[in-house]
Amino acid sequence: MLIISACLVGEKCRYLGDGFDYPALRKLVEAGKAVPVCPEVLGGLPVPRDPNEIVGGNGFDVLDGRAKVITNRGVDKTAAFMRGAVEVLDAARKSGARIAILKERSPSCGSTMIYDGTFTGRKICGYGCTAALLTREGIQVYSEENYKKCKEIENICSD
Ligand code: SF4
Repeated sequence: MLIISACLVGEKCRYLGDGFDYPALRKLVEAGKAVPVCPEVLGGLPVPRDPNEIVGGNGFDVLDGRAKVITNRGVDKTAAFMRGAVEVLDAARKSGARIAILKERSPSCGSTMIYDGTFTGRKICGYGCTAALLTREGIQVYSEENYKKCKEIENICSD
């Protein structure tokens, strides 16, 4: 079983109110091999919503209280992001998922790059909050850009 960012499989849960459609990932959900989740919606944020970025570090720093998640208007949404991350971890544990495919560059779901907290489009290497919590709890995190490198995912796809 896999956890997948809901916005990768057609759910319109992004901050702009849109989503993406990766047919190969959507088929995994339709086959009952993946659970779609949106940590920001699970954390109580609306759709659409103001864009958020991590200020002062990356997702691991947010987990450890050294950084915050802030909207482009300066509102602190750290608590909602933490709630969402815990909800996704709970969903992973309940479904038995040990691998997640999460949307790259999101302040929740990014696992290689995130935005740098200046709302200028600059990116830095780092994890979002949910990707960091799942990783810390032993769940492997890939993105829509690199999941094909994972043999275990390949096996789940071809089962
Ligand atoms: Fe939700 Fe993650 Fe997609 Fe953002 S990237 S809309 S938090 S699933």
